[in-house]
Amino acid sequence: MAKAVDKHDAMRHSCSHVMAQAIMDMFPEAKLAVGPWIDSGFYHDFELPRTLIPEDLPILEKKMKQIMKQRQKFVRFELPVDEGIEYLKERGQDYTAEMAVDLKNGKEVGTLSFYENIIQQNDKKTFVNMCAGPHTDNTGEIGVFKLMKIAGSYFKGDSDRPMLQRIYGACFETQDELNAHLTMLREQEKRDHRKLGKDLELYTMSEEVGAGLPLWLPNGTVIVEEIEKLAKEVEFEAGYDRVRTPHITKGSLYHKSGHLPYYADSMYPPMEMDNEEYYLKPMNCPHHHLIYDAKPRSYRDLPVRLAEYGHCYRFEDSGALFGLMRVRSMCMNDAHIYCTLEQFEEEFLAVLEIYKKYFELFGIDKYMMRLSLHNKEGLGKKYVDNPKLWIETEEMVRKAMKKSGVNYEEVPGEAAFYGPKIDVEIWSAIGRQFTLATNQLDFAIPKRFNLTYTDKDGEEKTPLCIHRAPLSTHERLVGFLIEHFAGAFPVWLAPEQVRLMPVADPHAEYAMELMDELKKKGVRATIEGPENSLGKRIREAEKKKIPYMLVIGDEEMKGWKKGDGTKNGSVTVRDYKTKEQKSTKASSFVKKVIKEIEERAL
Ligand SMILES: [Zn+2]
Ligand SMILES: [Zn+2]
Repeated sequence: MAKAVDKHDAMRHSCSHVMAQAIMDMFPEAKLAVGPWIDSGFYHDFELPRTLIPEDLPILEKKMKQIMKQRQKFVRFELPVDEGIEYLKERGQDYTAEMAVDLKNGKEVGTLSFYENIIQQNDKKTFVNMCAGPHTDNTGEIGVFKLMKIAGSYFKGDSDRPMLQRIYGACFETQDELNAHLTMLREQEKRDHRKLGKDLELYTMSEEVGAGLPLWLPNGTVIVEEIEKLAKEVEFEAGYDRVRTPHITKGSLYHKSGHLPYYADSMYPPMEMDNEEYYLKPMNCPHHHLIYDAKPRSYRDLPVRLAEYGHCYRFEDSGALFGLMRVRSMCMNDAHIYCTLEQFEEEFLAVLEIYKKYFELFGIDKYMMRLSLHNKEGLGKKYVDNPKLWIETEEMVRKAMKKSGVNYEEVPGEAAFYGPKIDVEIWSAIGRQFTLATNQLDFAIPKRFNLTYTDKDGEEKTPLCIHRAPLSTHERLVGFLIEHFAGAFPVWLAPEQVRLMPVADPHAEYAMELMDELKKKGVRATIEGPENSLGKRIREAEKKKIPYMLVIGDEEMKGWKKGDGTKNGSVTVRDYKTKEQKSTKASSFVKKVIKEIEERAL
């Protein structure tokens, strides 16, 4: 069991014992396996005479509550290790006996510890389990719980052995905390990007293409391209130059960059062509280094900022693939900044400003940056062997972080091979945590690529390189944004921004003119004619989370003549977010929606 223990852990683990006790009561022949605490509760694995059904959970919960009411004492006792193993075997507890044998073989253990539940009034012993603890004093101190689900599991993860049954539970100190947790779970399920990605027709996966290789549908493509447009504007303003690089490359370049052989496991296997090995690109860095090196650079050219939405391929384990969050093909908001030591701070701060700008734009108020540093033990192995440069560059980054005023913490021993890095953690609107992107300082690879610039004194020097990707990959960011916005994107990102609904046939012509006007101004508008009832059409548009619905009937058409465009008519606007319905002049609506799009309002 883990070492860091707080009172929740003891409480949750005690709840797991109580569940095991209830199981033993229900199935005296049950065999116990592991039963640890986890983030919001606990689970316990069992071998049972029959498969559990959901209806078993309330029965178990009732038994557990009785046990808790009795405030049975958790009493610890120890047995010499061999005696302990015998004790477990006698009780038919094969799995815990096997765990005890592993303990004995793994290290020198003299004794095994057990926890026994005892009813205090009559000293009746009710349940015993091998366990390192800790536990609450008695079963009355467990707080509130709920059994969540039944799943299959394998003892020691070994799928050659018979499958066990696992019951998950949530456990909190108060009913309010438990309720909040359950609400969050429901919200998470509703917001799951895989579900919404399908409902809103954003992306799809096809067995015929391969696992982890998403296909962007038209709606998802709109979002991807809006994000790309944003990045290009921001990077243009910040003085970046755009470049483009191929998807495949000779293996020799990845030997030079150090990806091969160390990174080979995460790369697609090579293709043989003309006696050369070519790889799908796992990273854009080496290509950008070569672009930097394509002509001689002087100190006057620096900093050089090369940006690309670069497509990369990584062979993630099939078990690790997860919707858009973990994929094998990804398009990265990549850039490399080549600068002098003196320019570093300003450049680094400018990158942090870009992060902050994006956080504000997407309404991400909770974020944390982790500054990962080297450690002495890793020098020459995990890290480039240059202690002086490590200390110097880490201090530079630290100084810049402090100056920028962002939230950050330091983690020794987590740096990249070639320099300190910053991982950016963000929290979605419902508190789900994501590692969005990293921002790395590289003082080693430029040297390996012989990148140079001619300094003022005529000397050839090596620039520093900053790797940065504030918007991560399209896949990861869109996955995050789907959950963050629960699919109800701000107008500028919404695949469909306005849907017009003429009440009846005579209103269709006016609606068409409005739609043309909106489209001419770059607004993504569609029309749905009166084939279906208005109520049905509104429900459909709500399901698609379209920000604005325009209802157009007699009242709205008043004063409008063919060819007027938005001049004289009005519209009734239904706002998806506020659920309000308001009549307004057509021209004012058009102005308002365009302003919102231009400002990328939330
Ligand atoms: Zn225990
Ligand atoms: Zn890079």
